[in-house]
Amino acid sequence: MAIGDSRTLLELNVHDALSEVNDNITDIQRPLPGESFRDTALRTMGRDVFLTSVNALSQTGEMVNIDGTGNRVAASLFGSQEVFFVLGINKITPDLASAIYRARNVAAPLNSKKNKKSSLNPCAKLEEKCYDCGSPDRICNALTIYYKKMRNMQTMEIIIINESLGF
Ligand code: SF4
Repeated sequence: MAIGDSRTLLELNVHDALSEVNDNITDIQRPLPGESFRDTALRTMGRDVFLTSVNALSQTGEMVNIDGTGNRVAASLFGSQEVFFVLGINKITPDLASAIYRARNVAAPLNSKKNKKSSLNPCAKLEEKCYDCGSPDRICNALTIYYKKMRNMQTMEIIIINESLGF
């Protein structure tokens, strides 16, 4: 099992809860001692189960994720047999356009604030909205729209928690 980068899963303390029944979890937030980000990210791919979240879920059925390095969306799209997206109701939007808007102008600026380098991005320093920046630490390099379960994947499931979680 692997856990992708997700504030929602962190807030739910999913890693510790699952560790009680599974001692083989790869978590992008918990690299092995001395391990590079790339090596941890590669270990999250191709696992039987992958857990992550999304930046927005539209009431018309699409999910939207923005990614800076690509490891989170890559692992959610291919390699795992079962992928679970866990999200709070704060991420639900009326339609695809508002889901994309939320991902770019709500989730991405808040994510930019998370670490030292990306907190210098204009969305993190100025008003919380996207400036379509050219920052070297831009966190929005790909936008993924999930329409349906990926072909050949056993399960792609959405778990909605009835509270506000993550970005
Ligand atoms: S493109 Fe740049 S300004 Fe826009 S949300 Fe992403 S990091 Fe922030």
